[in-house]
Amino acid sequence: LVSREVKPDDTQLRVGDLTIGGAAFHVVAGPCSVESREQILSTAHAVKKSGATMLRGGAFKPRTSPYEFQGLKGDGLALLAEARKETGLLVTTEVKDTATLEAVAEATDILQIGARNMQNFSLLEAVGEMRKPVLLKRGMSATIKELLMAAEYIVARGNTQVILCERGIRTFETMTRNTLDLNAVPMLKALSHLPVFVDPSHGIGVRKAVPAMMRAAVAVGADGIIVEVHPDPPRAKSDGAQSLDFPEFEKSMHEVRAIARAM
Ligand code: PEP
Ligand code: MN
Repeated sequence: LVSREVKPDDTQLRVGDLTIGGAAFHVVAGPCSVESREQILSTAHAVKKSGATMLRGGAFKPRTSPYEFQGLKGDGLALLAEARKETGLLVTTEVKDTATLEAVAEATDILQIGARNMQNFSLLEAVGEMRKPVLLKRGMSATIKELLMAAEYIVARGNTQVILCERGIRTFETMTRNTLDLNAVPMLKALSHLPVFVDPSHGIGVRKAVPAMMRAAVAVGADGIIVEVHPDPPRAKSDGAQSLDFPEFEKSMHEVRAIARAM
């Protein structure tokens, strides 16, 4: 169902008053984790001012170590709702499991499925039953085919509103957190009618190098990007090493817009 052979024309998603997968390039920005009211509200205002169309922020965080910050959970969802109301930005946040799906779905405009959950088939089936847009991230060791098959699980249940997201894969390289597989973008666009996003933050994992990969994502034909932005990256509770501060994000957005206009 996700194949272009079945449906040749691009799928366009309506999220609030936005159309994803059409002519417009979308930038989703915000912190890795929602940490406090002050943090999420200041970030929401800053990214909106720089031209982001959506706010991101994790409330239920799937951390590698059980001793790391696990997110504010329900309180984080409430803070996202407050930021959404105050700025008018639509929001996306990760749904970590089926137990919290209903609560997360209520608080978010797009359900994010994280890399670690790309093949959590019961979660895929459960979001497939919903009629809410899903941002499906590629697993860190998943092939392009496996990503498409994971999307198929969702669409097969009737939820056709899926965005595919390249977020970097594991390779032998250790200088960067992951290897952003920009090859995946034109391949996915050719193989599938679904919109394709890129996550340059997790894709490279190095703050200074993120803007270059934001620009590359536009140039390679992605429909949007999802970028981590934090008011004070060195003090972030998660992913500070790859988060842009407000001036860095503002500067990158000028470059991104210039490339998007030229496309
Ligand atoms: C995130 O977006 O903060 C995240 C955990 O991403 P991924 O699932 O791609 O690792
Ligand atoms: Mn993160």
